[in-house]
Amino acid sequence: MTARVLTALFALALGLVAHAAAPFDYALQPEKIADGTWALIGSTEDITRGNGGNIVNTAFIVTKEGVVVIDSGPSRRYGEQMRAAIARITDKPVLRVFNTHHHPDHFLGNQAYAGVPIAALPSTRTGERDDGSAFADNMYRMAGDWASGTEPQVAQQDVQPGLLTVGGHELELIALEGHTAGDLAIFDRSTGVLFAGDLVFLDRAPTTPHASIQRWLRSLDMLGALNAKKTLPGHGPVHAGAVGIEQTRDWLKWLDETLLQSASRGLDMAEVMRLPLPERFARMSLARSEFERSVTHLYGAYELRALDSAARPVLQQK
Ligand SMILES: [Zn+2]
Repeated sequence: MTARVLTALFALALGLVAHAAAPFDYALQPEKIADGTWALIGSTEDITRGNGGNIVNTAFIVTKEGVVVIDSGPSRRYGEQMRAAIARITDKPVLRVFNTHHHPDHFLGNQAYAGVPIAALPSTRTGERDDGSAFADNMYRMAGDWASGTEPQVAQQDVQPGLLTVGGHELELIALEGHTAGDLAIFDRSTGVLFAGDLVFLDRAPTTPHASIQRWLRSLDMLGALNAKKTLPGHGPVHAGAVGIEQTRDWLKWLDETLLQSASRGLDMAEVMRLPLPERFARMSLARSEFERSVTHLYGAYELRALDSAARPVLQQK
């Protein structure tokens, strides 16, 4: 065998290795959840190099006029593969993308929708602009090359809350808050499907890096009043009834109560993190690690409040 043939074989082998290692295929399988309505259900794990950040639910509605997309996923690659998955189902154009909130797993796929108007609540757009680059860097650190080439594409339009009719679907755009400063929920009155974004989690512990628990609880009350037939949570399975709203409310109330009591007992952060979790949360994915993260995010404020109320009587005596 000549050196040239060997070199050629070597190059071919390298090519095969590169090909085998480089598909980065999210294997997105749209699941039909209602008439013309499809969901892409992500895993309930943390972001890893195995799942490429596909830990999130996204969705699209095929209307008579075209397609409405709800969240674009964790990376440019996901957005592109989502768009290809949509094209396998319909040849109608994508009319509009909504970002439910500014967290990276929900909007870093925006790049794939160049030329399509992307809309979000004003505070979501601000968050995408301010945190987008750091989010994209962090996604790359956690997901690796799945996220290569991903750059934050900030939504260009403000969502106008209220009714929007698209191709026969009556969409109620609801401006809420609590998971972040701007949480968009979309209720399709035509099908009874609620796209809840991260205001609702099911069988996966809620994340709280930008949360206000009291506002979140109020938002859950408003979502509950819609009496949706089906709910697509931001994370976890699509479901009928209010089970996701109830479980999210249960977790948030327990979290609030636990942090309040711990602060009044004077526990330090490490002690709070070691507290036992209630049995009813045992089968919830990531319950322990999200609880620990929530302690990191939220406990300081509870400690300050406890110090404040302990100091007040002393001040009043003076
Ligand atoms: Zn989120």
